Amino acid sequence: MQTGLFMLKDEVRMEGNQLKIFDGHCDVLWKMWENDDVSFSDNNHLHVTWEGLEKGNAKVQCFAIYVPEKIKGESAFQVALEMVAIFNKKILDRYSNMKLVTSKSDIDSLKENEIGAILTLEGCDAIGSDLSRLRKLYGYGVTSVGLTWNYGNAVADGILETRGAGLTEFGKSVVEENNKNSVWTDVSHLSIKGFWDVMESADYIIASHSNCHKICNNPRNLLDDQIKALIQKNAAIGVTFVPQFLTDSQKCTITDILKHVEHYCSLGGLRNIGFGSDFDGISSTVENLHSFKEYHNLVNTLLKYYSETDVKGFLFDNFYNKYPKV
Ligand SMILES: [Zn+2]
Repeated sequence: MQTGLFMLKDEVRMEGNQLKIFDGHCDVLWKMWENDDVSFSDNNHLHVTWEGLEKGNAKVQCFAIYVPEKIKGESAFQVALEMVAIFNKKILDRYSNMKLVTSKSDIDSLKENEIGAILTLEGCDAIGSDLSRLRKLYGYGVTSVGLTWNYGNAVADGILETRGAGLTEFGKSVVEENNKNSVWTDVSHLSIKGFWDVMESADYIIASHSNCHKICNNPRNLLDDQIKALIQKNAAIGVTFVPQFLTDSQKCTITDILKHVEHYCSLGGLRNIGFGSDFDGISSTVENLHSFKEYHNLVNTLLKYYSETDVKGFLFDNFYNKYPKV
């Protein structure tokens, strides 16, 4: 049966606010680290707050540890630990219905009113070239590891590093360590060469916040052959709400998100894709999707064009099914 963006369905049975959401990427920890005064209830400064997650019907939210580019060398790990402390003290300790999850069974155990929090690392700059630091982060609950941000580090080059190098020897050991510990290796931001090295070596792959290059010509977006390889590898892929990765035009709408969903599906990604909003990592937002609270506007639009099963897949099931740890 053909469904999709250009085939409007006759009826919409579900309401967008009834479906649970598993979002693969946000940068709220970074925002809270940058400004000590911002709390997890600050709806004026944050896209992702406790109230927003509740209202937006979140079930699982991934929280990235992103150490800003300006922090160099040894202090990077220190800053990563500070973000872990913010996650623990200002989010988990403060909101008893927000629970750290590190496995599928943790997600299964969440009660109706509880929301799961996955801790992720965005870029291995924070660990330098020290595997024991990576293990320490696993110990704090990290279950997804992005190898780079946009530039080079001891693991690999990012997509904007002109050298374009792939995985280093140390990078290979990071991927091996992820495999051993059933941790996702995240290829968002990674160089093309690094991407293909990961395809050969990683057991559990996610592109947590990456869109389609065919739809929007931005270097951060994935080429069709990369997308096909991800699908072949049973990877999770998060469509992201970054306007510059969605469209070249000034105005960015929910329809632009659907164009990327549709393209992923046309390449066979129906059971791979989810959403990695990048909320709090973006300075501009998609019309009618300005914060987590407004997720239902996207959900309602998806329900017009895709079956309930497919929409549930995009919102939750696909990421849940591919989350490595049982
Ligand atoms: Zn990012």
